[in-house]
Amino acid sequence: MAGLGAMQDWKMRITHVIDHAAREHATREIVTHWADGSETRTNWGEIHRDARRMAQALEALGIEPGDRVASMAMNHSRHLVSWFGVAGMGGVLHTVNPRLFEDQLEYIVNHAEDRVLFYDAAFQPIVDLMRDRWSTVEHYICYDPAPGSDLLAFEDWIGAQDGDYAWVDGEERDPCMLCYTSGTTGHPKGVLYEHRSTMFHAWSGLQPSAHDFDPSTVMLPVVPMFHAASWGLPYGGAMAGVKFVFSAVNEPQVLCDLMDREGVTTSAGVPTVWLAMFQHCDATGRDLPKLDSATIGGSAAPQFMIERLMKAGIKVQHAWGMTETSPIGTVGSPTADWARMSFEEKVAKSRMQGRPIFGIELRTVDLDDRTKELPRDGESSGALQVRGPWVIKRYFKAEEDAVDAEGWFDTGDVGILHPDGTLQLTDRTKDVIKSGGEWISSVELENAACGHPAVAEAAAIGVHHPQWDERPVLFVVRKEGQDVGAQEVVNFLSDKVAKWWLPDAVEFVDDIPHTATGKISKKDLRDRFADYRLAD
Ligand code: AMP
Repeated sequence: MAGLGAMQDWKMRITHVIDHAAREHATREIVTHWADGSETRTNWGEIHRDARRMAQALEALGIEPGDRVASMAMNHSRHLVSWFGVAGMGGVLHTVNPRLFEDQLEYIVNHAEDRVLFYDAAFQPIVDLMRDRWSTVEHYICYDPAPGSDLLAFEDWIGAQDGDYAWVDGEERDPCMLCYTSGTTGHPKGVLYEHRSTMFHAWSGLQPSAHDFDPSTVMLPVVPMFHAASWGLPYGGAMAGVKFVFSAVNEPQVLCDLMDREGVTTSAGVPTVWLAMFQHCDATGRDLPKLDSATIGGSAAPQFMIERLMKAGIKVQHAWGMTETSPIGTVGSPTADWARMSFEEKVAKSRMQGRPIFGIELRTVDLDDRTKELPRDGESSGALQVRGPWVIKRYFKAEEDAVDAEGWFDTGDVGILHPDGTLQLTDRTKDVIKSGGEWISSVELENAACGHPAVAEAAAIGVHHPQWDERPVLFVVRKEGQDVGAQEVVNFLSDKVAKWWLPDAVEFVDDIPHTATGKISKKDLRDRFADYRLAD
């Protein structure tokens, strides 16, 4: 029998997500700690009402389905309203990262052709600086103007609407969000998420081996709503009825206070966020907040961090992904043999980046011959490729696809796949150091060096060598008030990495350059030391 089955039509549009949250979890709270220190409480029912008011107000401005509407804001309830309000009227929310450099900010807003910009008062200086350079923005609306200010305030603007609004109908594959990558070379590139891709991503992320959301979850997402869709947490949280605790400031004391006071059970952030919390707890003598789990991603979670969280009884969910993968690709969670593993084995496993969540396919291919797929043997290291329903096909406004004929997207990461499906990232393809025809992982050198108590940060790059082609040089920032010499660092590394991986030189620097999303910028480091020569 040919033809369709006999089940109902239900378009995968994210309006279903907020409708469900309002219907089933209306009173579940959304708490915000604002930049001025004040706190507000709302809930999924009111977020739904305000999103409808926002959609009405956008239509009143003449915004049409498909138009881009930008936000430049920290995590808070009004930003959450915008995620659903813009998508609900068929618009595309472009979440602008305020930490981008000026020329990147100019480029992305013009490239996206944003028509409205919603922003936090804290970013008024950026708006003042960029206003004349953003050629398409017609309206500026401030989320949190100071009392008495003459700026157009978000609450007043939506408050003029009655909320009697039906979501715009459209197709599953219509766009709903635009995020730019902050690559270190060339212009940032836009990744245009769809209703359907967003829905798949959030849905798969709910599972116990990923975010593990249920209606008793209280989540404080530190990962910003302007970076890679805050890892999709606001959507998954709405599906499951999670209580969100947002903070518009990222000070560790504020975060720890909120976690303790609001009964936060889980949080998510890049390693530096967790590090800052450790430092705060050490300096003040307070205990780590009593979380059930902690998601760490964006860059590799170091061993000491995993150990400390696990010793505090906190489940570590080490995740890998990228803006191009919506962003969740893999998440670390207990494997079948978990109960039989020692503490050390669990830590070693958790240092790896976890396994693909349902929907994601991974493979590694030879770095020199991308047509040659490598075995999942826990040893072969190669270029990591990914495909799936929430993986990019083509960058926004690009002429050509970003994937090969079979849909594989080359991540630019280098990794090893283990027989149980665990991904172990070893480097970025542009950063691996090629010495005598063999690859050295710059990341492993850096991680090992960071285990030294006097090392605050380390970055390894390949420097030309007449015999070996390249040899590693390690740049090290010492911890304040600490002393360590080059030979001591090399000695420290000697039982942690292969002998031929040991750096030919260790140089001490005051700082290491970072990208706008806080990752080490190897490109800037290489530029800075372009004239560096190894001593004969
Ligand atoms: P972004 O698009 O800014 O989120 O950056 C994505 C990149 O961050 C990936 O391609 C990786 O190089 C890196 N990354 C993300 N998660 C991890 C992780 N858990 N460990 C190591 N690198 C990571």
